[in-house]
Amino acid sequence: MQPTSSASKRVLVPPAPAGPIFPASVYVGESFTDVQRVLAGDKQGYVYARDGHPNADALAEACRSRHGADWAIVTPSGMASLAVALLSCARAGDHVIISSRLYGRSLKLLRDEAARLGIECSVADLCDLDAAGAALRDNSRLVVTETITNPTLRLSDIPRLGELIRGRGCRLLVDNTLAGPECCRPLAWGADLVVESLTKSMNGHSDVVLGLLCGAGEPPERLHIVHSTWGFTPGPFECWLAERGLKTYSLRAQKACATAKAIAQLLTRQPEITQVHYPGLPGHPDHALAKTMLRGGFGSIVAFSLKGGLAAAVAFHQNLPGIPFCPSFGELETTYSHPATTSHLGLSAEERTALGIEDGLIRLSVGIEPLEWIHEVLSAALAS
Ligand SMILES: *Cc1c(COP(=O)(O)O)cnc(C)c1O
Repeated sequence: MQPTSSASKRVLVPPAPAGPIFPASVYVGESFTDVQRVLAGDKQGYVYARDGHPNADALAEACRSRHGADWAIVTPSGMASLAVALLSCARAGDHVIISSRLYGRSLKLLRDEAARLGIECSVADLCDLDAAGAALRDNSRLVVTETITNPTLRLSDIPRLGELIRGRGCRLLVDNTLAGPECCRPLAWGADLVVESLTKSMNGHSDVVLGLLCGAGEPPERLHIVHSTWGFTPGPFECWLAERGLKTYSLRAQKACATAKAIAQLLTRQPEITQVHYPGLPGHPDHALAKTMLRGGFGSIVAFSLKGGLAAAVAFHQNLPGIPFCPSFGELETTYSHPATTSHLGLSAEERTALGIEDGLIRLSVGIEPLEWIHEVLSAALAS
């Protein structure tokens, strides 16, 4: 390869609706002092891609503004975002409180992995404010809950949880993945930190795994050290894809939420179904809170229990050719999952019962197809 002359270094980057991808792992420094200033954070710029690159910054900024956050970082997965939050906010000897209804891997990270680092964890039902208050200690540094929990779609009262811990040197972290910023912006309700798995509806195209961590006020002091030193910066191409997915996020979310609400109402009339879980239904235990907190819609996920238990769930699967069985959610297409044998398989039968996860429970993730089509396909499967 020929050495490049300095004259050919300047390449014009023309403005365009689709931004460029910067795959560079390292950037050219103007001078020794200049690079020093960038590395010290005193000057905008890039030196080494693990510390930051334009595509990560562009995605973080797009996500920051969606959440009305003061700062935001992106990471290689939703789990990585939780790990950055844990490592930045807590250290050995500290205590964290987590919801018993958290995503399974989040429970594993914040309880089991955190314990290996000397961080103590209490698990409590954070949909119950008394249980949350009872778990608080002087050394509690982080309280972690989800806006809408999976799969029975119970809500956390973010404003009251925020009040409970204010002034105690403890942060409220809300995993907002099931709601997404279109339905809820937890920072506006008093959360300090928000995590999103961008893998789900914010990207929405089933083609990247990425995470977001954003917050109100000053970021945790160790945030940038943890982000760079533990190697939590995602790749440029994934960031670029997610930024593209995010451009249509609001439209997709609005459509999916409206369809999900209609589907939930229609499913309540199906004789094969014993219970429909959806925060937008008046019979849902958190409906009043949902009407306050979920301003932009009640979400795109509907769960329902089939009368015949596991056998009925298996029959439903065999008779539903149009809608794929995908143990994730937030895709363009409508998909469904069977929590008892996928996301919550690790729990004992008693633990599943306590969380309301019956063997006949189906979790539907509503996509952007026409309502009539989704309803037709579901009705046919339920009837057969
Ligand atoms: C998927 C998910 C995560 C983890 O996100 P990844 O991007 O898969 O690492 C965390 N919390 C919730 C609620 C999720 O649904």
